[in-house]
Amino acid sequence: MDEKETYSMGFGTKAIHAGIEPDSATGAIMTPIYQTSTYVQEEIGKHKGYAYSRTLNPTRHALEKNIAAIENGKYGACFGSGLAAIDCILKMFKPGDEIVSTNDLYGGTYRLFKTIFEQYGLKFHFVGMENADKIEDYMNEKTKMVWVETPTNPMMNIIDIEACSLVAKKYNALLAVDNTFATPYLQLPLDLGADIVMHSVTKYLGGHSDVVMGALVVNDEDLAKEIYRIQNSSGAVTAPMDSFLVLRGIKTLHLRMQRHCENGRQLAEFLAKHPKVDKVYWPGFESHPNHEIAKKQMRDFGGMISFSLVGNSLEEAKDVVRKVKVFSLAESLGGVESLIGHPVTMTHAAIPKEEREKAGVVDSLIRLSVGIEDAADIIADLEQALN
Ligand SMILES: *Cc1c(COP(=O)(O)O)cnc(C)c1O
Repeated sequence: MDEKETYSMGFGTKAIHAGIEPDSATGAIMTPIYQTSTYVQEEIGKHKGYAYSRTLNPTRHALEKNIAAIENGKYGACFGSGLAAIDCILKMFKPGDEIVSTNDLYGGTYRLFKTIFEQYGLKFHFVGMENADKIEDYMNEKTKMVWVETPTNPMMNIIDIEACSLVAKKYNALLAVDNTFATPYLQLPLDLGADIVMHSVTKYLGGHSDVVMGALVVNDEDLAKEIYRIQNSSGAVTAPMDSFLVLRGIKTLHLRMQRHCENGRQLAEFLAKHPKVDKVYWPGFESHPNHEIAKKQMRDFGGMISFSLVGNSLEEAKDVVRKVKVFSLAESLGGVESLIGHPVTMTHAAIPKEEREKAGVVDSLIRLSVGIEDAADIIADLEQALN
């Protein structure tokens, strides 16, 4: 069904049907893996909409329409990774342009900003955005984009997307939201005033830890043209097989997210009561500083949780990570299986101690991507590891 047909339908129906038609040649209900680089043309300039697979491939095309629909957007574009999607956005700008970004940021995004695009003359400001008023101090006539990640990694801060969009609009800047942690099941940034939604599809959208991919979704036609121009010119596109796997993954996104949220809630409550646990960072707690904003802009609170230990011992944190059996020690998140990570030695090792501690990333901080196993088993696993 096309996006117009599914627009007013529920999330689950869209996830399964949007952008997907039976194969015109065979009637196959599942979108085939069009493993082809090129397409035979009837005569010069006359083809069926596909000329070369960097520009467009039917499996990728179905996925791009599907991801656009579940984000309540008109145009989708898929890339070889989440960072390739961000790279595409940054190539829209020119030397001297400025970008105001969340400070509690995915490490790879920070590295792309600082070590690649700064040398081409873009200027980045990193700002704590839990209070959206603070953004204005960094805005001027050169600001072209506000970059927001919410919930943030690993501190699970919540940023008010609607408030950010008002500030961005006032300065004629674009608002881009990295929606990887929340997914469109929990949060729809375009409906809240964002201009661009970005995903590391690698995480919840793919959902099975078997694909690396990125995506962008927009509503504005000119912005879409610019994105497709760069996608085709730079060529960081995704493969047909991977597109197929993600189309399959998204069909159960709503069910998986319900279970991620349910397990997340049970685990957060278990941790909050555990005598060895100091702080638990999860936006579902009424005591979370931005719980009200989370309630306003999210359907539920997700399956990402961070916590620290009483006494803040690095060795004890390493011990917990070593002793878990159902959880696996790994980078990444959003798959069906539960993962455990230690930001200080893993994802945030490159950030100076002083800077990371200011943000709350202390030695004993542990990050969980709560999977969709049985809650009793993952709770028992953490319990034995903590004791
Ligand atoms: C993983 C991740 C990225 C980068 O995506 P890749 O697919 O690994 O390139 C960007 N933002 C967030 C929030 C992520 O978790």
